[in-house]
Amino acid sequence: MNIEEQINQLREELRQHNYNYYVLDAATISDYEFDMKLKELQALEDKNPQFYDPNSPTLRVGGEVTKNFNTVVHEQRMYSLDNSYSKEDLLDWETRIKKLVDGDVSYTCELKYDGASISLTYENGELLRAVTRGDGIQGDDVTTNVKTIRSVPLKLKGDYPPKFDIRGEIVLPYEGFAKMNQERIAAGEEPYANPRNTASGSLKLQDSSETAKRPLDCLLYNLAGDRLGIDSQFESLGKAREWGFKVPEESRLANSIDEVLDFVNLWDEKRRDLPYETDGVVIKVNNLQQQEELGFTSKAPRWAMAYKFKAEQVATKLNKITYQVGRTGAITPVANLEPVQLAGTTVKRASLHNADQIAKLDIREGDTVFVEKGGEIIPKIVGVDFTKRDPNSTPTEYITLCPECGTPLIRKEGEAQHYCPNTEGCPPQIVGRIQHYISRKALDIEGLGGETVALLVKEGLIKNYADLYVLKREQVIPLERMAEKSADNLIEGIAKSKEIPFERVLFGLGIRYVGETVAKKLAKHYKTINAIIEASEEDLVSVDEIGVKIAQSVQEFFNIEANKQLIHRLQDYGVQLQISAEKLANQKDTLNGQTFVVSGVFEKVSRNELKKLIEDNGGKVSSSISSKTSYVVAGENMGPSKLEKANKLGIAIISEDDFLNLI
Ligand code: AMP
Ligand code: ZN
Repeated sequence: MNIEEQINQLREELRQHNYNYYVLDAATISDYEFDMKLKELQALEDKNPQFYDPNSPTLRVGGEVTKNFNTVVHEQRMYSLDNSYSKEDLLDWETRIKKLVDGDVSYTCELKYDGASISLTYENGELLRAVTRGDGIQGDDVTTNVKTIRSVPLKLKGDYPPKFDIRGEIVLPYEGFAKMNQERIAAGEEPYANPRNTASGSLKLQDSSETAKRPLDCLLYNLAGDRLGIDSQFESLGKAREWGFKVPEESRLANSIDEVLDFVNLWDEKRRDLPYETDGVVIKVNNLQQQEELGFTSKAPRWAMAYKFKAEQVATKLNKITYQVGRTGAITPVANLEPVQLAGTTVKRASLHNADQIAKLDIREGDTVFVEKGGEIIPKIVGVDFTKRDPNSTPTEYITLCPECGTPLIRKEGEAQHYCPNTEGCPPQIVGRIQHYISRKALDIEGLGGETVALLVKEGLIKNYADLYVLKREQVIPLERMAEKSADNLIEGIAKSKEIPFERVLFGLGIRYVGETVAKKLAKHYKTINAIIEASEEDLVSVDEIGVKIAQSVQEFFNIEANKQLIHRLQDYGVQLQISAEKLANQKDTLNGQTFVVSGVFEKVSRNELKKLIEDNGGKVSSSISSKTSYVVAGENMGPSKLEKANKLGIAIISEDDFLNLI
């Protein structure tokens, strides 16, 4: 088998596994085996760029950056749907239909998925383009991002037509959404408000490797365009499934409006078991010939109708708006409600997210507000009952001073959140940072809980996490509810935290955007805190998965003198601020302190293998040439601009063999 055949075979294999896993939800190999095959393909592709394929499974990880999304006119308009709310509405609709078409009418009942609508164009079985709905006439080309969604087939199977559009919804399942939010909270960021907005925001991220990390799913439900030799909507769903699309299995045929209502009633309950949000049922005339005869109004098809589920909603009084200060200083307004029963739980509080949300709802203290719980677990305020508003009330004025320390709040350009900039002196920030430091995934200090931290700060015994290490038993014992035994445990727990590995300490420092995964990457790459402190923004960005936002935040953190001093103190106390000697021993350091730029195509090793070799031997890989570059490892077809720059700066250019000799 020649290289090209080998590449094609691997691509085909991976495509099938991908389909089994993400569309059928029935994997036949382990994740590890899958990763190995993917790596093998990646290596072959790196070495043989002439066989590039824009729809290769290796491109699922993203990487392409889009500054401005192109506007594309939909070949077939993307319509909205008319809504119905009762059996009467549906019967009226049926009467209208029967005046316009002959013969019996049957319906396809589908669930109405609550996500971001998308139109996919396929040509000769390959994904050509993915466009958002936009205003229905034209939308944004988000192909690079959509390609990273594993359930979107990049190549089709079976007897697909040569060219067609298919429409569906990009959704974010609850589980993935909850996980993203946990990670955001751990990294000191505001959680996202709901899966739908997060899904549509994900399509417009500039860096497609960011989209690739989000657990998005794509559910398809409509073939657009001429009939493609298919007679009914229900049949078209089956066909699309055969071609490799993820078409939900819940759809049913109904022969009457009564049967439609059975479907609605069934799913009004059962939808709570689905992994993603639905907000109703979409009923479509099944026969495509009849659909054609019915056509469209100016905004919606006459052959389809949405029936919205009733979200559980109650009205209650908004007693007061209070403001919470997080450990990064972010302010969150909270609605304190007159307690009310909703979908089986008592609701007393709901987040109002930010100043814009308050302004949008025009919500005021004393108002009667509507609280809703959809499929989501978190209750949200959806509106105000203006008929009950006190005529003397005035619009809510957002606070301008920190409720905890009185410092004027700031709001950065482009951000929704207000911040208290008084990181050093604002009590909840001080307490929050220490609480984060001792938390389970960070230093995991046994015998010390969040409340004790608050107490220690209040009593003036600690002001930062470094202070923990000089705490004395005698200082702790007099504290409220502190027995001698618990004081011992506390001191012992703090001492033991000096064994916690570097990556977790790095996470515990509470640098904004540096969550668990990022901390691991940084620790592995730089090995010591000093190397991270000294790294330039450019250098940081060259590390796998580190973007500009993270790099800047890391630099901001270490530019603050007080933070540097904290690090010095932690070092003095013996906290792990570098990878342990044992781990280091497993890594060679032949290339310590040297920075490499890799360019061109190589013979003996792939470009990625080469980078790994550099890092495993203690060297650093950078993406661009600067005066700090030690060597450029050049393969065939090295980029001309890199060559010129290297020559200008007098940097040594070495071959692949030279490099292998070096190590
Ligand atoms: P609306 O935005 O309320 O007018 O509803 C129309 C939108 O519902 C469409 O643009 C689709 O994005 C979405 N939708 C969700 N599920 C379906 C489905 N099964 N069939 C058609 N549209 C659907
Ligand atoms: Zn403050």
